[in-house]
Amino acid sequence: MNLGTEVQYIKGIGPKRAQMLSKLGLKTAGDLLTFFPAHYQDRANVVTTDQAYRQPQSCIFGRVGKSYERKASMGLFLLDIEIFDDTGMIYVRFFRKKNPYSGIDIFSSVKKAFEFGKYAYVYGDFKNEFGSKYLNVTDYEVVNSPQDTPAFFNKIIPVYPATEGLNQKVIRETVKTALNETAGLYPDISGLIPQFGTVPKIKSGQAILQMHYPQTLEQAEDARRSFALQEFFVLETALALSRHGIKIKPKEQRYEIKRILLTPFKNKLNFKFTGAQKKAINEIFEDMRDVQPMNRMLMGDVGSGKTVVSLSAVLLAAENGYQSMIAAPTEILAEQHYLTFKNMLEGLGVNTVLATSASLRKKGEREKILSEIQNGGAKIVIGTHSLIEERVKFQNLALIVIDEQHRFGVMQKFAALDKANTPDILMMTATPIPRALAMTVYGEMDMTVIDELPPGRIPVKTAYVGESAAYTHTIKELKNGGQAYIVFPLIDKSDKVELKAATTEAEKLSSTYFKNFKVGLLHGRMKPDEKNEIMKKFKNKEYDVLLSTTVIEVGIDVPNATVMVIQHADRFGLSALHQLRGRIGRGKKQSYCYLVGSSKGENARRRLKIMTGTNSGFEIAEEDLKMRGPGELMGTVQHGFPEFKAGDLIKDADIIDFTKAFARKLGEDDPNLEKPENRVIRQLVSSRFSDKAKLINVG
Ligand code: ADP
Ligand code: MG
Repeated sequence: MNLGTEVQYIKGIGPKRAQMLSKLGLKTAGDLLTFFPAHYQDRANVVTTDQAYRQPQSCIFGRVGKSYERKASMGLFLLDIEIFDDTGMIYVRFFRKKNPYSGIDIFSSVKKAFEFGKYAYVYGDFKNEFGSKYLNVTDYEVVNSPQDTPAFFNKIIPVYPATEGLNQKVIRETVKTALNETAGLYPDISGLIPQFGTVPKIKSGQAILQMHYPQTLEQAEDARRSFALQEFFVLETALALSRHGIKIKPKEQRYEIKRILLTPFKNKLNFKFTGAQKKAINEIFEDMRDVQPMNRMLMGDVGSGKTVVSLSAVLLAAENGYQSMIAAPTEILAEQHYLTFKNMLEGLGVNTVLATSASLRKKGEREKILSEIQNGGAKIVIGTHSLIEERVKFQNLALIVIDEQHRFGVMQKFAALDKANTPDILMMTATPIPRALAMTVYGEMDMTVIDELPPGRIPVKTAYVGESAAYTHTIKELKNGGQAYIVFPLIDKSDKVELKAATTEAEKLSSTYFKNFKVGLLHGRMKPDEKNEIMKKFKNKEYDVLLSTTVIEVGIDVPNATVMVIQHADRFGLSALHQLRGRIGRGKKQSYCYLVGSSKGENARRRLKIMTGTNSGFEIAEEDLKMRGPGELMGTVQHGFPEFKAGDLIKDADIIDFTKAFARKLGEDDPNLEKPENRVIRQLVSSRFSDKAKLINVG
């Protein structure tokens, strides 16, 4: 067996279990090595049976005696087994559900294992109820003689992250096999990194073993920090190299601020740029006029006015004859940008096209759009993921803008970059990047923050209320000429979860609370054209109320909407709630957000409290990071960005700083990692990150 051996060839793992493991990203023996425990169970301390009652959980060892089976209650049966040692006897108890007519012996495997006269290690909860004292069994291991060494007792043992359909026993045994056979083969890079503070230097393979089977809990933490150091070192090296890759390459395009488009555009706007917008535009223009490609992230809370900033960059490119691409995560948002751009650029003679799967569907239209992109006639190309398709070819693409960048996968971003040789890149996000992530993942991008909202904005008032209060307030706003969003988490009624589905709810609401108003419905299963049609109608005030699933989450701009009711608010994550709420409070009137739903569960309660307590996207993102962990927050888990196996973005900030500095130096000394001593690290970098990943940072 080696690190690349597929899990299904490991003893006890057939195709079915292999598939379950694969869902967790565990495909090879090597993957199992770094599938680290979520926590540990201390089974080092085995007590005598007379001491078992002294603590809630105990490990005991003794000789197996007789067993007794009986009915406990309706359908529930129990099996008591005697365990003897020098100090006496204790019962260990198993509970099982059983259909009394089925005839199946539910305890057969247990009875078989606990053979009379053999020796058993048992871990369980001590109980004193039903008139008897017993140990409620969590786990056990039966051996032939007291001299036999148990595999999972007499030591601290790992408890792995929950895995549906696979019990701890199976995972433990599988991981153990992989550890025994391949931990020694894991490439060791501990020697490449200088000593840092009190982080112990432990060889990579040894650190892995120690994380699964530490002798003490302190030892586990030592191993974790040691492995985290190695892990962040690999990541930071990849980022340092990619930075180098971008910065050394002079770009083909050159821009000059001519103002033939920029000035008329500015004059047409019915507002003045905020100070933060001006600063952002200046930084972007400076980047664009530099000889090296721009690699900048523009962060700004929802409603801070990122669109006109990006439009300024696009116009600078257009003034100089270059094409720009604006990629948005949804059709609705792309279409909205298209309409905004067309509107703002009216009379300026800049050809703008929309390339979404909807607009590319009809043959005639498709051919026209694609050829305009290819012959350079289209200066601004707005679209969705369809922009990265093979058939979309540009003549002289110079600027790539990626809006709501966290909604794109890493690979999608790469594919976009393929459309040009040395593109200037502007990524935009309203999901603020917490400091820890900014340092690691986005560390090599230049950052601009728009920390100011356009003047006259009134912060949204948010309250956690009952449904009827929410609707009563909504009606009041509608009567004042406002419009409202009502958001539901699901489209159709599902049997399992009793959620009020938007579709049935729409009918109900339009005949009750909102019978005097026009109610529109928007959901994810609609065709893009339909969605756009509904959004347009809402924007034109043909609807007063828009009932919708989370398809409106991103980027939609209807300033007259002043109310949002979020149903089942407890089911949404913090960043989704913040994005949703960002759809209101865009005009000059006070807006209201009503969160409706259960506040059961500590996390739900905490989220609701945060939402009613602050409007700041930055605070919310920090809280989100604390509550959910970084991978999920950035949407990177599903997009394949490597999560950290041992590293912790919050606990290990010192390690991150250190490895970053060291990796940068390494990248300067040996930019292609050609020196023989760096071969191992090069291997690790390229196996963790694709070749393209080395070219650029894409979070
Ligand atoms: P986001 O940063 O969330 O993408 P948008 O670019 O959609 O925000 O801007 C939100 C709204 O604010 C839009 O209606 C836009 O026209 C308006 N806006 C942008 N900048 C200003 C400004 N300086 N003054 C007034 N309104 C502005
Ligand atoms: Mg936006």
